[in-house]
Amino acid sequence: MTTTRFAPSPTGYLHVGNLRTALFNYMIARKAGGTFILRIDDTDPERSKPEYVDAIQEDLTWLGLTWDRIEYQSRRLDRYAEAADALRAAGRFYEAFETPTELDLKRKKQLNMGKPPVYDRAALALSEDEKAALRAERGQGVWRFKLDHERITWTDGILGDISIDAASVSDPVLIRGDGQVLYTIASVVDDTEMGVTHVVRGSDHVTNTATQIQIMAALGHGHPEFAHHSLLTGPQGEALSKRLGTLALRDLRAEGVEPMALLSLMARLGSSQPVEVAGSLEALIEGFDLSTFGAAPTKFDRADLFPLTARVLHATPFAEVADEIAALGVPAAQAELFWEVARANITTRADLAGWWQLFRDGGAPLVAEEDRAFVADAFARLPEPPYGPETWGAWTAEVKAASGRKGKGLFMPLRKAVTGLERGPEMADVMRLLQKKPTL
Ligand code: GLU
Repeated sequence: MTTTRFAPSPTGYLHVGNLRTALFNYMIARKAGGTFILRIDDTDPERSKPEYVDAIQEDLTWLGLTWDRIEYQSRRLDRYAEAADALRAAGRFYEAFETPTELDLKRKKQLNMGKPPVYDRAALALSEDEKAALRAERGQGVWRFKLDHERITWTDGILGDISIDAASVSDPVLIRGDGQVLYTIASVVDDTEMGVTHVVRGSDHVTNTATQIQIMAALGHGHPEFAHHSLLTGPQGEALSKRLGTLALRDLRAEGVEPMALLSLMARLGSSQPVEVAGSLEALIEGFDLSTFGAAPTKFDRADLFPLTARVLHATPFAEVADEIAALGVPAAQAELFWEVARANITTRADLAGWWQLFRDGGAPLVAEEDRAFVADAFARLPEPPYGPETWGAWTAEVKAASGRKGKGLFMPLRKAVTGLERGPEMADVMRLLQKKPTL
């Protein structure tokens, strides 16, 4: 049974980078008819906030990404303590007492000597007496996992065959001096106990994966399939990590980005498949194929979301927007026509209000000096609304006969005088929606 999870830390709002991870895991589970778990990685009590837990669920719900189960790491601390005991019993866990400053100094020395900044395992040489003395002086130490110095290999679902020399990686700290369990071990315990079969996450986790594979083995378990997707960059290839905060899903939502536009882009960006607006989440899932994604950084341009949003709206049926249109004050009898006309001329839903205002109040007439008399005469020939499907044709035929104008010289000044715009919906439709007779 395929089981995946999306495991955000509730320390901020979800952004487009997180969405990619969530979506890939979601689609793998749904495509296989498996289970998708939302796992809240909240072992850090200082940085984790309940409002972010709520926001994560709200954002996923807005996108229609449903989860079968929610789990909280903060409620599973006893499981992690058990795993820590097991590692201790297996001789794979050791206490270390270096301060951050000391570690920093060690790293600098190593770098100066042209060596990789890997923890030197000095703590392994401490006697019990020395440890007791350090504990008395500095408090509890941190607990590090003792890596086996061998090559760690796996076949990555995106990166292919990976081989990492464990000796090039520091023994990871799994428990802090204050007793706080760190993500690396909590995630191992959860992935194992929850039967997670596939883990897709960002390529910034590749080294974590190597250490987690060894921790899982030390606890007597195999490991799930791993895949690491590339990280997003800005449109020019610039790192996005610092700007991801400005690409929060809720901000995009507030700007009017449609869920299906965002999902369609993120489900294909970085793959060999073209980005197309999907008709449904099911269609996106159907076409999803992890093996089509490349390892190279993926360029993301938020501007791409707006033409996609426009396309989603152009294909949105009236029933889905009926309430919103009623709320604008559009009379029920004209609501559907209003949507048919307006949707081809909007980028986001927010643009609807402007179109309705135009039909309700009329546009500010745009009339060239030489067209003034012509427009005044034309308006005089127009009856009071309501106007029907035939109004525009009948009116322009009469104006044409009276003025001798035709083609662009006839239609353009009328369009500009009625709507205040040089282009827009078919004038026959515009007339039908006008609530007032146009005036100069
Ligand atoms: N909480 C971790 C993160 O947000 C989860 C990583 C993982 O998927 O294992 O980076």
